[in-house]
Amino acid sequence: MKTKSWRRLPPLKKWVLPRENWDAGPWDNEPDKVQWLDVFSGYPCLIVRGPMGNLCGYVGVPPFHPWYGLPYNRCTLPMCESDEEEGYCQHSPDCIIDCHRGLTYSNHCLELRPVHELSNIWHEVEPGDPAHIKLVWWFGFDCGHYMDLSPGLVAMARWANTMARESGHGDYLDELEAKVREMRPMDFEMPEDTYKDMEYVGACVRRMARQLRDIYDQTRGPIDGRQRDEGVQIQGPQGTVRDRLTLPIIG
Ligand SMILES: [Zn+2]
Repeated sequence: MKTKSWRRLPPLKKWVLPRENWDAGPWDNEPDKVQWLDVFSGYPCLIVRGPMGNLCGYVGVPPFHPWYGLPYNRCTLPMCESDEEEGYCQHSPDCIIDCHRGLTYSNHCLELRPVHELSNIWHEVEPGDPAHIKLVWWFGFDCGHYMDLSPGLVAMARWANTMARESGHGDYLDELEAKVREMRPMDFEMPEDTYKDMEYVGACVRRMARQLRDIYDQTRGPIDGRQRDEGVQIQGPQGTVRDRLTLPIIG
């Protein structure tokens, strides 16, 4: 598996405003997708720009990982006392893995499916790559939450605002804005949304890969120690993208 970056990705969702509508920002100088093999864990990693312009990070665990095939919000224990009816369990990957605002994605690699062209969440592998690099189960998070800036969302809000005013609904918008100001306490300032860039997301992904590898090492998968050691010995890819992503672990 080679380190690779895609400068721009074709828009996959028709309802999204074209990128030309976005404001200028750090996203202009970043790729839309990067893949690399994490040195510490030996797991494939991905950063993909979502349809709203925010970045999303993914780590692919191999078939012998205890969480392979497990949905991110499902309990990781075979026997659990928690009330699953509530739809929330403290043993879920989402609760255990510490990443940006929690996990929001889990799935097979979409490159192996017909839906490949509907998603960018897949990695490009080499014919000679071993199965544990090819057949991964992705866990992912996104940076499109509260306090995250998504350039596509900003553009869409602006477009909706313009459309509403042009179609004679300006008064309604003014009224709505006045209501919001009325409801908000005077001393309460809205926090500034910030864009979570490649550097930030790269560090989050590497931290997540480390945590997922720790889970594997703690629980010991069904494969013997020899294979586990091979995971550690995988050499990290070299190159500018890799260099940029070699950052100190957060936290
Ligand atoms: Zn549980």
